[in-house]
Amino acid sequence: MTSSKRHGRCLCGAVTFKITGKLRNVLVCHCSQCRRSSGHLWAATAAPVEAIEIDCQNTLSWYRSSSKAKRGFCRRCGSSLFWQLDGSTSMSVAAGSLDVPTGLSTQEHIYCDDASDYYTVNADELIRMGTETVIE
Ligand SMILES: [Zn+2]
Ligand SMILES: [Zn+2]
Repeated sequence: MTSSKRHGRCLCGAVTFKITGKLRNVLVCHCSQCRRSSGHLWAATAAPVEAIEIDCQNTLSWYRSSSKAKRGFCRRCGSSLFWQLDGSTSMSVAAGSLDVPTGLSTQEHIYCDDASDYYTVNADELIRMGTETVIE
């Protein structure tokens, strides 16, 4: 966890946002939904919903990606920006949409069993980061 104010935006800039306070370190998700949504894998930080101030003019759209979660994206450029579990007080935010330096580091790779077959998740890297992982 690290604190301060962060800024982020989509590729075209039609959706911008500010996050105040602490952010979770980054989780890299290899699940099939993140895979299809992002085109590869989805790396996300997270923050309480009330800490995220989104500035857009009807350019942020939400897609119900499963029975329990939705994904927010820019209607103009298609950037994948947010993920929120129904009823959750926090929201995931695409780590790559944040301005650098983010001050964050990658914490964990998740749903590695769901990863596509054209790459391997580097287990050594996970160990080096000293994090727990869901890989068996
Ligand atoms: Zn955009
Ligand atoms: Zn995922």
